[in-house]
Amino acid sequence: MRIAFLGLGAIGAPMARHLAAHHDLIVWNRTRPVADAFAAGTGCAVAATPRDAATGADAVITCLPTSTEVAALLEGADGLLAGLASGSLVIDCTSGDPATSRATAERLAAAGVAFVDAPVSGGTNGAEAAALTVMVGGTAGAFARAEPIVRCFGKLVVHMGPVGAGDAMKAVNNALLAVNIAAFAEGFSVLAKAGVPAATAIAVLNASSGRSFVTEKLVPERVLTGRFPLTFRLSLLDKDVGIALDLARQLGLDAPVLDAAGAVAHGARADLPADADYLDIVQVVERRAGVQIRG
Ligand code: NDP
Repeated sequence: MRIAFLGLGAIGAPMARHLAAHHDLIVWNRTRPVADAFAAGTGCAVAATPRDAATGADAVITCLPTSTEVAALLEGADGLLAGLASGSLVIDCTSGDPATSRATAERLAAAGVAFVDAPVSGGTNGAEAAALTVMVGGTAGAFARAEPIVRCFGKLVVHMGPVGAGDAMKAVNNALLAVNIAAFAEGFSVLAKAGVPAATAIAVLNASSGRSFVTEKLVPERVLTGRFPLTFRLSLLDKDVGIALDLARQLGLDAPVLDAAGAVAHGARADLPADADYLDIVQVVERRAGVQIRG
């Protein structure tokens, strides 16, 4: 198949690399040299504009920061809509918001183009290993068309419901991730002040009921080593918690725990550089507590 991929960021690039191994791939990136470097490594084609990328493509995949950038990419003389053929499919792997995805789906449907929201989880390591979880929102027909394509980088591919259901799932997942990071940082600051060594505490916690993906995987690899690599921007996590909170409000629900985690994530951004990683939240909580968890 002819596949176009737009958005070669931290997670988009490894996803696109797997597609290049199975399909006739053309890529577009806002910053052109990024696309040129990617093409040099994979042998795929580079499009000058979103329109050129979409022209002749059976499916177009987008992986941008938010749904707003995806919607904007449709428009204008060089936009996706100018190149997309009736009968083609847009797969949006952005961690988006359900309402904007529904509006995008309607805009595309008017041109005879199908749409699925298909955000992913598993991080950049999962993308490198083609082991992402892909949560798909759309019609059963659109899911059936998208599924073999996203299998190139996805291990668990699930049809969540209509357009927007994938975005909702992803936003809630990441809101729970934020809860677990904030809760870990606060709990382990307490333990550090109480004189309990972090390595001992993490071994006990991970054999006990307070454990999570954060404490089992992220903390040993990144916090206790002091590595704190940049793999997922904190601003993106903050955006995801915001989407979950907006959804809760639209549905008339109170979500005080998610709200508190969102406040921690959002507040941490004020103390960090713009490109900070999401786990840097831990360092902000440490600074405010006057401790270093790893000792
Ligand atoms: P990055 O910030 O690394 O990359 C963003 C990409 O979007 C870049 O290609 C960037 O282009 C492009 N872009 C930014 N703004 C625009 C715009 N206005 N118009 C066109 N292109 C634009 O983000 P990630 O790759 O980390 O994240 C992408 C999506 O995947 C997000 O929704 C994120 O929440 C989600 N995600 C990320 C994970 C991760 O571990 N990183 C994990 C799971 C989901 P340019 O090169 O020009 O800046």
